[in-house]
Amino acid sequence: MSLPSLAELENVDGERVLARLDLNVPVRDGVVLDDTRIVAALPTLRWLTERADVVAACSHLGKAKGAPDPAYSLAPVAAALELALDRPVRFIPDCLDTGNDAEPGSLLLLENLRFHPGEKANDPEFAARLTEPYSHYVNDAFGTAHRAHASVEAAARSYPRGRKAAGFLMEREVAALDRVVDEPEQPFVAVVGGAKVSSKTAPLEALVGRVSSLLIGGGMANTFFLAQGLEVGRSLVEEEMVGTARSVLAAAAKRGIEFVLPIDVVIADAIDNPKRVDVVASDAIPADKMVVDIGPEARARYREVLSAARTVFWNGPMGVFEVADFAAGTLAVAEALAASPAFTVVGGGESVMAVRQAGVIGDIDHVSTGGGASLQFITGESMPAIAALES
Ligand code: ADP
Ligand code: MG
Repeated sequence: MSLPSLAELENVDGERVLARLDLNVPVRDGVVLDDTRIVAALPTLRWLTERADVVAACSHLGKAKGAPDPAYSLAPVAAALELALDRPVRFIPDCLDTGNDAEPGSLLLLENLRFHPGEKANDPEFAARLTEPYSHYVNDAFGTAHRAHASVEAAARSYPRGRKAAGFLMEREVAALDRVVDEPEQPFVAVVGGAKVSSKTAPLEALVGRVSSLLIGGGMANTFFLAQGLEVGRSLVEEEMVGTARSVLAAAAKRGIEFVLPIDVVIADAIDNPKRVDVVASDAIPADKMVVDIGPEARARYREVLSAARTVFWNGPMGVFEVADFAAGTLAVAEALAASPAFTVVGGGESVMAVRQAGVIGDIDHVSTGGGASLQFITGESMPAIAALES
């Protein structure tokens, strides 16, 4: 079954719609610090408010633990949403307050779904109470699509087809990631970096089966170095993942894909205020140093592989790019993707930051708004929220 789109909603005019959005934005002292996710939700919200009588937007925010917590209130988001849409938004201080008395033409924002324990528990009773006032349901929260939570799973399942849809953002995410998962145009090159192997084991295992080249960087490269019998000094490593790294290497060899670890690395004595920064071959990492980035030869090699790709998926920085001296590898990959004629997709919190930092975000075909969700999607595993919309 395919993902139902907004255009497939039946008789939505004059009706009441529950819109599950990803408004999980950083808030400090009641002020929204980054409105990227609010902006990303606007096309769907505009489409709905032009048609429906009442639109109730809902979301989770932060790490609320099943009870009200003012630190995670969506009230500041209501103010930001009013500004962004240039229209009044009525804030509803409990997501189960039906808002039945809402004036026609109202846009409501419901308080944090995770103030109720039923949200994370995927409790059907909570979902029934949440959805009861609304004839139609829209999910545009791609960032939580990999979680079986009530507002995205049980709620979506409770509506028949014709009364539920994916929003524009969800649709765009799924279409882009489908192009990477479902018979990607070859050569398909994946670049995987970031801190740890353990947080990306399933995607690594899945990618090995589909790519023609897999380029590795970041802290996770150290664990692969260990698996190859190299020394990594004081670098970040996961000893307990060496076995996993070995089996990924074996799978790559068996499939005959090009598995590329950095041939050289940038090393330092410390991450904060380093006294010395050097470049060494990866088989000559001194015992008292740590790897902080891929080296210049590795950068050149990665550029070359990327320039010949037709499809690219990138997740995870090549080094500690937050420190300017250790950002060259990550910026080189960002620029190589931007310059590539391939279909390019970037997912992951830090990788997206890096693309923005490199000033090339406009030259990437798809920048995913969901880090964990995009990683799960590319493993090919079913996504609870998407399966529920398609049911
Ligand atoms: P993403 O959010 O893009 O999926 P991760 O969360 O997996 O990426 O990892 C990002 C973090 O990994 C960054 O904060 C970066 O500083 C860190 N990192 C990258 N390379 C190294 C390294 N060689 N040593 C220590 N940390 C690293
Ligand atoms: Mg991250």
